Amino acid sequence: MSQACAENSTQNSTPASQSKPHLWGQRVSDLTETLLAMGVPEKKARYHSHQIFRWIYERKVSSYEEMTDISKLAREALAEKFDITPPLTVATAQTSIDGTRKFLFRLHDGNTVESVLIPANNGEADETTSRLTICISSQVGCAMGCKFCLTASMGLLRNLRVEEIVGQVLELSKAADITNIVFMGMGEPLHNLENVCRAVEILLSQYGMGFSKRKVTVSTSGLVPAIRKMNARLSRENRVNLAISLNGSFNEQREAVMPVNEAFPIEELLDACREFTLEPYRRITFEYVMMGGLNDTTEDAARVLKLLDGIPSKVNLIPYNPHPASPFRRSEDGDVETFKRFLLDRGVAAMVRHSRGRDILAACGQLKSAEDARAAVN
Ligand code: SAH
Ligand code: SF4
Repeated sequence: MSQACAENSTQNSTPASQSKPHLWGQRVSDLTETLLAMGVPEKKARYHSHQIFRWIYERKVSSYEEMTDISKLAREALAEKFDITPPLTVATAQTSIDGTRKFLFRLHDGNTVESVLIPANNGEADETTSRLTICISSQVGCAMGCKFCLTASMGLLRNLRVEEIVGQVLELSKAADITNIVFMGMGEPLHNLENVCRAVEILLSQYGMGFSKRKVTVSTSGLVPAIRKMNARLSRENRVNLAISLNGSFNEQREAVMPVNEAFPIEELLDACREFTLEPYRRITFEYVMMGGLNDTTEDAARVLKLLDGIPSKVNLIPYNPHPASPFRRSEDGDVETFKRFLLDRGVAAMVRHSRGRDILAACGQLKSAEDARAAVN
């Protein structure tokens, strides 16, 4: 029984011209540099760039006129240089019976991506505060071709721009008090590494939204060179959590569902994880989608245990979310429990992550917005 209800109907918007770079895609340092290049004295350039950031991310303004603290001259110069028209608009929003909300964003070129807001308490006993996690997209579609994932069937249409990544959080934070960000929506974040890293820097900036690096997680299917690059690319203060979609306990099995494993087999992936700089008490999350008869036996659990030996890790077991035309089935609850117990009893932090928002196709691997958009206009 689907209880999904449409909150908003399609909303008209003027697409941003996209002929110039966008203000939301600039880090504080980029703004300072721009102002300096415009001839603004250094002290003023720094002060102004912090102010602008605050205006965008705290007051959530979308026009230069609203930035009344900033000199008219600087505003005019910036308007010349950077677009400020919102680069994405909420086209539809749906609410699940479990409180999960899915948003369809329309981009300037008519493409669409989805973000999901997931309210607190995924069943962890240690969480006392309320959490609101936003699951954001990094690409329109995805090139990785995982056999179990609906986004894969779109192929890759394009990378999201920095402002389109940041914009998902900015737009939804106007109405919601977002506490956590996960890059687990559409797309492979590390296939759009530079834009994702810049977006992380903006989201974490103390002058803007100021998210804690511990509350932001980037998930990857296992692009080994990009994991190394991200490790080198992000400075200490921007070192967000890393999640790896393992989804298999040996190469042949993983390769059958994740083609990326052909290029980067499990051993290489885990080597990159071992090299990944972790702060004390931080761990890498390993996601493991549990598919009945495929990767969910105790022998699989034993292999996973061996693989993760020596890596500070936690394991999120995600019972597979079936979608139409998919040949896979969700593991039996008992098998998921046995798998979890096996790991827990041997000292591996394992938990079951039941996908949320299943009735509105907002759960893991069910994001495929182009089709939703087409369905909405038909
Ligand atoms: N591309 C990145 C992040 C997006 S996918 C990645 O693959 O890590 C986010 C998570 O959803 C991944 O762990 C993926 O394995 C999982 N997933 C995809 N399809 C799923 C499905 N149908 N049921 C359950 N989990 C799924
Ligand atoms: Fe892409 Fe992740 Fe889906 Fe694989 S699971 S196709 S990497 S979005």
